[in-house]
Parts: sequence; structure tokens; C-alpha cells
Amino acid sequence: MVEKKPFIKRVVSYPIEENCWLFGDREKRELVAIDPGNSNKIAEQIEKFGGELVAICCTHSHFDHVEGNKLLKERFSAPIMIGKYDAPYLTESYKSAELFGVKSVASPPADRLLVEGDKIKVGRYTLEVIEYPGHTPGLIAFYERWLGLLFAGDLIFYEGIGRFDLPRGDFQKTKESLHKLMRLPDEVTIFTGHGEKTTVAHERMHNPFREHFL
Ligand SMILES: [Zn+2]
Repeated sequence: MVEKKPFIKRVVSYPIEENCWLFGDREKRELVAIDPGNSNKIAEQIEKFGGELVAICCTHSHFDHVEGNKLLKERFSAPIMIGKYDAPYLTESYKSAELFGVKSVASPPADRLLVEGDKIKVGRYTLEVIEYPGHTPGLIAFYERWLGLLFAGDLIFYEGIGRFDLPRGDFQKTKESLHKLMRLPDEVTIFTGHGEKTTVAHERMHNPFREHFL
């Protein structure tokens, strides 16, 4: 029997409490870092895993999700990937940290621009790109269909949704994207950009904004 169980590790960065998700194949020794924040623990965990970092994957360009890009790229020589429509804001996003009263590190530019349907191989697994604009114009999620996992950044949270009132946010597009998200199977686990993970079924039943997207 094929061992499906992937390596999944959350590293939280402060003060924004942003989730970086490390996702990898234990057998093939490959992993990706999704939304690296500013914690040194991310690099420590990658080294502990002992495999190859094949990509630095960003769901969107907000500073708290990309401020670890520079460190990881320099240390592991991995390419930075982000949605095509958020890429123009990537290297400037650290400036918005000032709005939150914190200092942040600029990201290098992207090495690969992703659009709907693009695929990233991580050992035996495949992350498929799904576009979910709204929180930002180019927010993307990474979907592992075989395992039923979705890394969705700030699209949705456990009984919450991403802010649409920040610069370039759009409530109409957020609603359309959440509607699109609800077409995924019930049992899909959603790994969120902040807070605890959730499932499609749980949010369909319990999300306080459900009337806007069901
Ligand atoms: Zn965000």
C-alpha cells in the first residue's frame, strides 16, 4: 500500500499570527513553504526535514505572507512563486506593514507567475493552482486533489473570511470566490493563513458569512 501521509507543519509568525505551512513528501524528501512569514523557525524546520525545498509558494502579496521569502530564497535557492495578478505588488508589499505598525522585509521578485490550472510537483504530490480573487486581485490557493488538501491563504478562515476592505480588496469578487470554493468536495481540509484549519463542509454549515456565498 502506498503511504499517502504527507509532512505538514505550521509555523506561526508574530505579531500578525500568520501561518506558514510546510508541505512535503517524506518518502521523496521534497517540500514547499507556503506563505513564509518572519519566523526563523521556518528555515529550522526545513533543515530538520532534511529534503529539498522545491518552491516558495505565496497565496498573495500581503507583507505578512511573503516577508520570509528573501531568507528562504537565499538559504535554499528555491524559486518564489505567486499568482500572476498579485506579482506586481510583491516587492512593494513590505511598505504596507507600516499600516500595522510593524517593520517588514521586502520580498525579491517572483521567479514564476502562476495562473489557474498550473501545477507544482512536490515529490509524489501535485499542488494545483486555483484562482480566488477578492482579498487581493491575485489570491491563489494550492490544491492537492489526491489528499484533499487546500492551502488557501486569507480566502477563508475557521468560521470567518478574509478582509475585503484593505487596498485592492473586492467584496463582490470575494463572494464569487467563496462560491467557487464551495464546489470542492465536503471533506477537503482548508489550511488557512491565520488561525486553525477547517473543512469545506464545516464552513458550508457554520460560516457566519455563508448567506453571501452559498
Ligand atoms: Zn492577506
